[in-house]
Amino acid sequence: DRIISSEVNEYDEQFELSLRPSKISQYIGQQKVKDNLTIFIEAAKLRQESLDHVLLYGPPGLGKTTLAAIIANEMDVNIRLTSGPAIERPGDLAAIVSSLQPGDVLFIDEIHRLPRAIEEVLYPAMEDFCLDIVVGKGPEARSIRLDLPPFTLVGATTRAGSLSAPLRDRFGVLLRLEYYDENALTEIVIRSSKLFDVEIDHLAAREIAKRSRGTPRIANRLLKRVRDYAQVIGDGSITLALANQALELLQVDPQGLDHIDHKLMISMIESFRGGPVGLDTLAASIGEERITIEDVYEPYLLQIGFIQRTPRGRVATKIAYEHFGYTYPEQT
Ligand code: ADP
Repeated sequence: DRIISSEVNEYDEQFELSLRPSKISQYIGQQKVKDNLTIFIEAAKLRQESLDHVLLYGPPGLGKTTLAAIIANEMDVNIRLTSGPAIERPGDLAAIVSSLQPGDVLFIDEIHRLPRAIEEVLYPAMEDFCLDIVVGKGPEARSIRLDLPPFTLVGATTRAGSLSAPLRDRFGVLLRLEYYDENALTEIVIRSSKLFDVEIDHLAAREIAKRSRGTPRIANRLLKRVRDYAQVIGDGSITLALANQALELLQVDPQGLDHIDHKLMISMIESFRGGPVGLDTLAASIGEERITIEDVYEPYLLQIGFIQRTPRGRVATKIAYEHFGYTYPEQT
């Protein structure tokens, strides 16, 4: 349960709901995505049709679920939320899609984890708005076709690459969410502070933004913890000095790195002379699973340029050496 994890946890769910923007105009950053969506939504409304199926992809916590709800809201329809792993049998999917109203949005999170047998039921549903379901068993079994109301499937995935090509091809709109820059995250922190009804200095908001790993979910979580600190230690309002103190206590450094990132980078620098070092070796040296490093710790370290991938393994870069106070061994 790292405070800087971009995955949602059970404590987030309640307060995240209260912070979710409901209109595209309140959705901060991601300008290209917003420009595209605005046009598609307007066009679908003019034609009085349901919106094309939309695939949103990008790392966790960047606002995919939020955007799906915004799409439904802007189209003035309902949204049904589910996820790939939650749909186990074709009947589960049939029950959901047959209960939709015309134009509704069906949001499937982690769509890359949809079982293959379900994907195949989904194809005709997406393409022709119908379901072919088998009823009965053995020689009695027959397939019946069920007409569905037109609907919009919004799929979200952190791994567009693991989506099967036939499924990917059935989405008319593919939108990739990017990590947020400091300005956008600062704006998000200020917006959330208003919703929390807490006063925050611009510089304090920027400091929280800087340590949020490009991710609104982390920005909001840090803000919530800093707010607690402000209420207990200060007078409730968040100044830069107070934010810095709180963030230090939370052990989130100025780059948004925590003790596990530190352990990993320092192990690379001290035990492996900066690399190249293989993932398995690195994982063993800090007592973590290879897949955890690959999926959880490494993406942000790659993103900020602290680690590079080479054919011979991972390498710590010059800026990583400098960040942790080591002298970079210049190549001879
Ligand atoms: P994902 O589905 O990609 O994991 P979410 O949609 O659940 O991410 O977003 C996580 C939180 O971050 C939400 O509570 C929302 O309030 C906030 N958030 C995400 N994107 C934005 C944005 N562009 N503007 C304002 N808040 C955002």
